[in-house]
Amino acid sequence: MIQQEQSNPFLIVQQQLKEAVDKMNLPNDVYEILKHPKRVLTVSVPVKMDDGTLKTFIGYRSQHTDVIGPTKGGIRFHPDVTVDEVKALSMWMTFKCGVAALPYGGGKGGVICNPKDLTNGELERLSRGFAQAIAPIIGPDKDIPAPDVYTNGQIMAWMMDEYNKTQGGINNPGVITGKPIILGGSLGRDTATAQGCIYTIREAANKVGIQLSKATAVIQGFGNAGSHAARLLANLGVKIVAVSDSRGAILNQAGLDVDTLITYKESNKSVVGFPGSQEIPASEILTLACDVLVPAALENQITASNAADVQAKLVAEAANGPTTPEADKILAQKGIIVIPDILANAGGVVVSYYEWVQNLTGYYWSAEEVKEKLEAQMVKAFDQTWAVREKYGDVDLRTAAYMVSLERITEALRLRGWI
Ligand code: GLU
Repeated sequence: MIQQEQSNPFLIVQQQLKEAVDKMNLPNDVYEILKHPKRVLTVSVPVKMDDGTLKTFIGYRSQHTDVIGPTKGGIRFHPDVTVDEVKALSMWMTFKCGVAALPYGGGKGGVICNPKDLTNGELERLSRGFAQAIAPIIGPDKDIPAPDVYTNGQIMAWMMDEYNKTQGGINNPGVITGKPIILGGSLGRDTATAQGCIYTIREAANKVGIQLSKATAVIQGFGNAGSHAARLLANLGVKIVAVSDSRGAILNQAGLDVDTLITYKESNKSVVGFPGSQEIPASEILTLACDVLVPAALENQITASNAADVQAKLVAEAANGPTTPEADKILAQKGIIVIPDILANAGGVVVSYYEWVQNLTGYYWSAEEVKEKLEAQMVKAFDQTWAVREKYGDVDLRTAAYMVSLERITEALRLRGWI
C-alpha cells in the first residue's frame, strides 16, 4: 500500500526538529520541550458586515517558546488557516530567529478568512477585533506580531492602534512590526524578506558556481516576497522566465519585464494576461527549466509527486514550509541545493527586529543603515549554516540551519534551567 505523504505542517516541523536534535546528539529533553508551542490561543471575532449581518471569524495566536526572548512572528489572513498550520509557523519562527541570532522566540497568528472577499471596512473591523482578542497575550515585551500572507502595513496600523487603546490609550508602536513608516515602521521592512532571500541566493550561487548575471529564475507567488524577489533578482541581471500567483502562471522565455509586471498586477489583480507572456498551468511552474526556483507562496508545494521533476539548481524558500520532508530527500539526491525557509526568508523578521529596536529607542535609522545591517546579518547566518553543513558532511542546509539555531536555543534552555 502506498503511504500518504505527510502534509500536516505541524508534524513536518516536529520531524525536522527531531532530525536535527538527533544529529547533534542533544538530550531528548530539548525535543520534548520544543515539540509543542508553549501557548496557543483560539479566538472568535464577531464582525459587523457591510450588509448589516454579523459574521464570526476564528483566529489563533501561537507562541512557541520564549526561552530566548519575547515571541515574534506574523499574522496571516487566509481561508486555509488551521490551528496546526499556525502552530507549525510559530515553530518555524523560533528556528528562523535562532539562525539569524535574533533575541526572540517564535510566534504566529492566523485568521480563517478570505480578505479578497471583504470590503475595506470589514477588513478593518476584523483586524481590530482580532488585535483586541489577542491583546492580553501580546505586547512589546511579550509577543510582537507582524505581516504575513495577505496582511500588510495598513492592517498592522489598525492592530497597533487597537492594541494601544486596550492599554489605556498608550502610544507604543513596538507591539507590532511591518507598520507604515509614519507610525514607526522601519525603512526597508517592505522589501526585507525578498532582500534577505537575494543575499542568501547570491551567497549560495557563489558556493556552487552559478553566475547570476547569466542565470534564469522562476518565482511561485507574486505577493510581498515574490514580487520584490523577482525585481531584485532582475536587478542582478537574472532573467525571470516565469511567475505565478493564486490565479495562474505566466511564462516568457525571453524574460519578463518585472517592473511593468508589478504595475500590471496592481491594476489587474493578477499576473495572468500580462502582454508578451503565455499562460501555463500553475502546476508546471515548479518544474520549469531554470537555475533558481523561488517558491514564495504557501506550504506543501514541492512534494514527493513533483520533486523528481524539479530542474532548478538552487531552490530558495521565500515562503514558509514549501518543501515536504520527502521532497527534500528527492531534491538532495538530485544534487539540488535548497536554501531553507528559516534561513532564506529570515530577512523579514530581521528588519522587524530593527523596527522594534527603533521603536524601543525612539531613534530611526536610514535605509542604507538598515540594508547594510541586514546584509551583514544574512551573510553571517548563511555562512554559519554552510559551515555546519560542511562540518557534518551528510546534512542538508535545512538540517544545518536547525542545528545553528538549536545550539543557541539549547544554551538558553540550559542557562535558564528549563532542561
Ligand atoms: N511573517 C514573516 C515571516 O514568516 C515575518 C515575521 C516578522 O517580521 O515578525 O517570517
